[in-house]
Amino acid sequence: MEKNIFEKIRDGESPAEIIVKNEYITAFKDIAPNAPVHILVIPNKMIPSLSDIQEEDSIYISKIFLAIKQIAEQLKINESGYRVITNCGKHGGQEIPYLHFHLVGGLPLGTMISLPKSSKKIFKKQHDVE
Ligand code: AMP
Repeated sequence: MEKNIFEKIRDGESPAEIIVKNEYITAFKDIAPNAPVHILVIPNKMIPSLSDIQEEDSIYISKIFLAIKQIAEQLKINESGYRVITNCGKHGGQEIPYLHFHLVGGLPLGTMISLPKSSKKIFKKQHDVE
């Protein structure tokens, strides 16, 4: 089966601005950043999404969060703060089926979730709110 884009970046077969690479994780700049700092961190093991994580993957998950902490320090956003996001599946808006964590920061990020109009309508209907 053909590798997806993040597998290719992990394997050095597609270009990316690599920030950190070690035995467990690869971190690289998002190609279409949404904030001054927008880094993606992936496990070096192919795991399609958060829903696919198994007990034996724990080491990858802890190494991802340690890397995020270190990158935030390196880029000097640890004091101002930042957000870590993983999109999972269709409703989560996941585009690339390879588990990844977005590290975003560098300016105030505002509210956590911004629903599209169509979803706002459905939510209001379901919950009877204005
Ligand atoms: P998601 O919607 O959570 O699956 O996010 C996928 C992210 O991957 C998006 O923010 C894209 O901008 C980013 N992306 C897609 N292709 C590349 C690439 N070749 N290099 C770096 N980031 C990419």
